[in-house]
Amino acid sequence: MTHPLEHTLAAALTKRRELHRYRVRRTLESATGATARVDGKNFLLFCSNDYLGLANHPVLISAMQKAAEDVGVGSGASHLVCGHSRYHHQLEDRLAEMTGRDRALLFSTGYMANFGVIAALVGRGDAVFEDRLNHASLLDGGLLSGARFQRFAHNDVADLERRLQKTESGRKLVVVDHVFSMDGDQAPMAELVATSRDNKAWLMADDAHGFGVLGENGAGCADIFSQDDLPILMATLGKAIGGFGAFVAGSEMLIESLIQFARPYIYTTAMPPAVAAANLAALDLLESESWRRDKLQSLIQRFRQGAEQLGLPLMASDTAIQPLQVGPDDQALTMSWALEEKGILVSAIRPPTVPEGTSRLRITLSAAHSEAQVDQLLDALEDIARHSGMTA
Ligand SMILES: *Cc1c(COP(=O)(O)O)cnc(C)c1O
Repeated sequence: MTHPLEHTLAAALTKRRELHRYRVRRTLESATGATARVDGKNFLLFCSNDYLGLANHPVLISAMQKAAEDVGVGSGASHLVCGHSRYHHQLEDRLAEMTGRDRALLFSTGYMANFGVIAALVGRGDAVFEDRLNHASLLDGGLLSGARFQRFAHNDVADLERRLQKTESGRKLVVVDHVFSMDGDQAPMAELVATSRDNKAWLMADDAHGFGVLGENGAGCADIFSQDDLPILMATLGKAIGGFGAFVAGSEMLIESLIQFARPYIYTTAMPPAVAAANLAALDLLESESWRRDKLQSLIQRFRQGAEQLGLPLMASDTAIQPLQVGPDDQALTMSWALEEKGILVSAIRPPTVPEGTSRLRITLSAAHSEAQVDQLLDALEDIARHSGMTA
C-alpha cells in the first residue's frame, strides 16, 4: 500500500511537470571547466559560475591537499566550539584586507550568510527593503527575519526612496544583489549608497557574481565602495574564486554582532579547513594573474558582438552572465535541448527562479573558454535561432 504522503507529493510533482518546470540533475564525471564529461558525454560548458576557470586549477588542488595532510578533512565542530582553524582565520584576514574592511567572517555557504546576516540585523518592528530580482537566499532571509518585508521594482531607486520615506520606526535595511544572478545587470550602487544614507537605512550588497571578476583589483564593488558607503558586504567563494563558502565583511562591530547573533554562523560545522586553504590559494592567483579578468572581459565583448549581429535577444548585461531571454518555458527548454544535441550545455532558467514569461537561456562565460569555443556557441545559437524563429 502506498503511504498517503505519496499521493499528496505526486500531485505537486505532476503539476510541475505539466508546467515544463520539472528539474533534473545531471551527473558530472570530470572536473568542471570549459568542457566537462556529463552523463557519459563530453560537452562544452556555458552554465557554470567558475568565471575565472579556477575550480580545477593545480594551485588550488595542491593547497587543498597540503592543508588536508596538515590538519585533516573535517573541521570537527562549529567555529565557536573548536572548529575555527588557522586556515579559516588567515582567509578571513585576507578577505578583510582585499575588500578594505575592518574584518571578514566566513560562512559555510552564501545561502547561510545571507540568511544569517539579515535575521541578525533586523527583526520584529524593523523593515527590510529588497530589489524584487534579488537572489532567493536574500528574499528568504528577509521574509523569515520577522521584519516588515518589502520588495521594490528592479533597480528603481525612486521606488525604494518612496518606500523608505513612508517607514518611520525601527531599523531599515536595504538589500540588493550587486550583480543580478539571472540577468547579469548591476545595481545602481552609487545611488543606493546615497539614498540609504539620506534615509538612515543600512545598505547590504551581495556580490556573489562580482567578487573576483569586477573592479580594479577584482574585489568587486568593494573596490569602489568603502565600508562607510557600503557597511554590509557579502560575497561567495564558490563562483569566480573556484572554491566554496562565503563571507561577510564590514566593521568590527558588525562582525562581532554576527559572531554573537547570526544563527546560521553559530549552529553549523565550520567548512573543512582545507577548503579555506584552497580559497586562499585562489586569492593569490587573483592577484598574480589579472589576465584572467581581462580575458573574461574580451570574451564577453566577443559574445555580445556576435549575438547582436545574429539578432539574438541579449539582456542589458556586461558581466559574465549573458542570458538570452526566450519567454515561454517550453521554448527555453527546447532550445537548451537543441544546444545539448550540439554538445553544448546551457541551462534553461524558468519560474519560480525568474518571473513568469521571462524564461531564458542563462549563458555564462569563463576565462577558461577560448575564442573558438565562444564562436562555436554562437554558431550553434545561429542555427537554433533560425529554426525556432528566436530574435531580439
Ligand atoms: C550563488 C549565490 C548565493 C549562494 O551562495 P552559495 O555559496 O552557493 O550558497 C547567494 N547569492 C547570490 C547572488 C548567488 O548567486
